[in-house]
Order: sequence, then C-alpha cells, then structure tokens
Amino acid sequence: MTAEAGEAMDPTAGETRRYDVLVVGGGPAGLSAAEAAAKTGARVALLERRKEIGYPVHTSGGSWISDMKALGIPSDLYHPIRGVTFLSPNRSARFDYDEPVCCVLDVRGVYQYVAGRAVAAGAELHPGSPVERPIVEDGRIVGVLAKDHRNRVGEWRAPVVIDASGFSSTLVTRVGLRKGFQRYGYGAEYDLMAPNYDQGMLYLIMGSQVAPSGYAWAFPRGRGRVRLGVGVIRPDVDADAREYLDTFTERLPNLAPDFKGASPVEYHTGLFPSEGVVESFVRDGLIATGDAAGQGSTLVGEGIRFALYSGAMAGAVAGEAALAGDPSAERLARYERQWRARFGREMEISYTVNQRIARWTDAQWDEGMDLLARLTPAQAAELLRGDYSVSLFLAVLRRNPSLLRTGARKFFDLAMQRLGKSTPLTDAEVATGA
Ligand SMILES: Cc1cc2nc3c(=O)[nH]c(=O)nc-3n(C[C@H](O)[C@H](O)[C@H](O)COP(=O)(O)OP(=O)(O)OC[C@H]3O[C@@H](n4cnc5c(N)ncnc54)[C@H](O)[C@@H]3O)c2cc1C
Repeated sequence: MTAEAGEAMDPTAGETRRYDVLVVGGGPAGLSAAEAAAKTGARVALLERRKEIGYPVHTSGGSWISDMKALGIPSDLYHPIRGVTFLSPNRSARFDYDEPVCCVLDVRGVYQYVAGRAVAAGAELHPGSPVERPIVEDGRIVGVLAKDHRNRVGEWRAPVVIDASGFSSTLVTRVGLRKGFQRYGYGAEYDLMAPNYDQGMLYLIMGSQVAPSGYAWAFPRGRGRVRLGVGVIRPDVDADAREYLDTFTERLPNLAPDFKGASPVEYHTGLFPSEGVVESFVRDGLIATGDAAGQGSTLVGEGIRFALYSGAMAGAVAGEAALAGDPSAERLARYERQWRARFGREMEISYTVNQRIARWTDAQWDEGMDLLARLTPAQAAELLRGDYSVSLFLAVLRRNPSLLRTGARKFFDLAMQRLGKSTPLTDAEVATGA
C-alpha cells in the first residue's frame, strides 16, 4: 500500500536490521571504530545523524605529524606548521621547527579518508541516520532505535553497540554510564580566507582580554585559509566565545595586519568535554569511545588523534567480542584496560594542569610565558602534546629552578610519581637533571 500525498508516513515502517557491531556517530572515533571492527570480520553498520561525513566541521583540526603518519593519514590531508607562537597579555614565546612537528588537518578530507577505509574493510555507513535511543533488554544493550535517511524509524540490533556520538554521548548518558558533561570547552571559530596571514605560523593566545579561562587560536591550513577561534571553559566563566571572536582584532591589534583583507568562508561552533575521562567505558553490550567517553586531552582541548586511536581499540575489541558471542562488560573491559594503560596517566596529568591554568590571572600567564620561553622547541612541543615524562619535567625545572620555590613543586612531585618516580624530587636532581 502506498501513502497518499500529504498522508503521514508510518514512523515505525522501517524493518529490523541485524549486525554484529553498531557504531553511533561518524566522527573520527566512530569511523576508526567501524574500520577496526570490520577488519575483525564482524558485520558493522555506522549511523551518523548528519547527512555528510565530516561536515559541518566543529573542530579546528590542530594535530601532530607523527600521529598522522602512525594513523596512515596521507600527507596531502594536513598542512605542516613551521612556527608556533604563544602570546600572553604582555609576553610571547616563539618556537621554530626546521622539521615541522605539528599540523592543521583538512578535517573533512581526513574524516572522509577514514570513512573510505572503513568501507573498504566492509563496514556500511549510514549518513542522515540519527539514533534516538538504545534498545535495552534484560539490562543489556541490544541495539538502537534510529531514523534512516528517509526518516523511517527502525530497530538496528547488534550484540555490541559503540557510542561514538561525541559530546552528546547519546547512549552513555541514557544508560547511566555518566551524566551529561557539566564542564566543557565552548568554541567559536571562523574559517577565513586570509591573504595576508603567514601560513607557516600557528598562534595560541591566552589572557582575560582575548579568551577568559581558555585561549584563542589561529591555525593556518594552507591555500590562504586560517581557522581563527576562541574557546572558553564553562561554567568556569560564563563568557560568550562568539563575542570574543567577533572583536578579536580589536582585542589584539598586533595581529590585525595578519587579518587585513580576510573574510570568513565558514563559521564553526562546538563543545568539548573538559572534566576528565569518564569512570567506566563499558557496560554489557556497550562501549563508549572518543569524546563520548571524555577521552580527549583537556590540556588544550585536543581530541582528534585520541579519537582515532581510541576508536580503533574499541572497534577491535567490539568485533572480537561480538564474533566470540560474548558481549559482556567483562569481555569489553579489555578495551578499557588497553586504553588506560596507553593514555590514562597522560589524560590525568593534562586535566590537573587544565584545572590550574584555567584559573590563571593575566599576571600568571605572563609569568608562565617567561617559563615557556626558556624551553627548547622540542620541549615545548612535548609539553603541548602531553608527552609527559620524568625527564621532560626535570628539564623544565632545570630551566626554571624558581618553580621549586612555588606551589608548582607539589604538582611536579605528584606528576612525576604518576610517571613512575618513586621518591620525592630533590634540588640536586633538578640541578643535575638525573
Ligand atoms: C571548537 C573546537 C575546537 C577543537 N579543536 C581541536 C583541534 O584543534 N585539534 C584536536 O585534535 N581536537 C580539537 N577539538 C576536539 C575534537 O574535535 C574532538 O575531540 C573530536 O572531534 C572527537 O571525536 P569524536 O569522534 O569522539 O566526536 P565527534 O567528532 O563529535 O563526532 C561525533 C559524531 O556523532 C554524531 N552524532 C551525535 N549524536 C548522534 C546521534 N544521536 N545519532 C547519530 N549520530 C550522532 C555527530 O553528528 C558527529 O558526527 C576541538 C573541539 C572543539 C569543540
């Protein structure tokens, strides 16, 4: 029977579809999860609410060349950066790299590239398919209720469901793995055509005039394009990032010449969880990955490479568990153990640092900039990347021994203990770097 014109369509007309693994969300975490799950031989479907993978963009795409290489991302999908300048209200620290270490991604290009790999591995992608809620039977997640691209609601069933829905954490919040994120970065950004901007230089700018409790950024991405954005942390402040963005060149007249003749081509906004990693990533039949599990680094709100790595770990464990007929939380916890062993300490330290610097005054930012300026380009990159080690912290302290006389000493002591140093820091260690 066909529906007459104007007659309401039966909203439950869609059929029940069955897979081994369902992935909710087609961002970096979901795409890489779908690829990894499909590679185990599992039947995989990914549901993305947007009509296009990688669009609209809601991220600035700053990342690291070594990670992009490790993740197999082709070099024509990222723009290498030769210089990084940090600005505080009255200071600056500039680092130049003969061999670039950081990069700005062609976000849509990277996401669609990973989507291509997921399809090549055998996953089905379903853009235009918003997931409405989980299907729970006997306390176990057995699938989701979702619309398809023709707006038909249907059941999608699988023994393992991966929540990779980003900040909205669609399933995680519904099944009580966590409440919605209470503390988060709120960012607004123009993607500009900026003919006068130096495409080799990336800026990170701190201070109450430009981005209270957060930072502003200028990320060049090649061919005259620059992402200029402002992020603030809620509820630490109730500032409106959009307002700071619109008045950026008035607030920072030194950079006005770089943006002379610039015009927006895209406008992006987005939210990033800033309250640390969620307590548990798994339930019977459910795995959370990427932003949905708070797995990005809160140091500078960086999550893309972590989402790609974490999604791959989640997808592999999900596929194997589904094929083994054991989707229990106990089995899926392998993923949680792997993830915490690889990223747990780094995320914990980043979150501690973020909570401290989010409260810094302008004077503290100026002091911080003086400390940063004493580091080598390689050390600055390691800090920004969150590549913490006892030797890096000792090197920072050696170049800034005055830190030992401040409250920061306790932080360094604790952080180094987390990194495996068994005894408290001594002045002699700092002096010798041993
Ligand atoms: C303003 C801003 C700037 C940032 N800048 C950087 C940066 O420079 N570098 C960096 O590494 N990270 C950055 N991040 C963080 C980074 O964007 C995230 O960590 C990353 O996107 C997380 O990937 P994800 O796949 O977990 O989630 P997302 O990228 O958010 O993807 C989730 C996907 O799920 C879909 N979805 C949501 N709900 C549903 C549903 N119910 N049904 C179906 N689909 C659904 C969404 O449409 C989306 O496509 C930034 C974040 C913001 C907000």
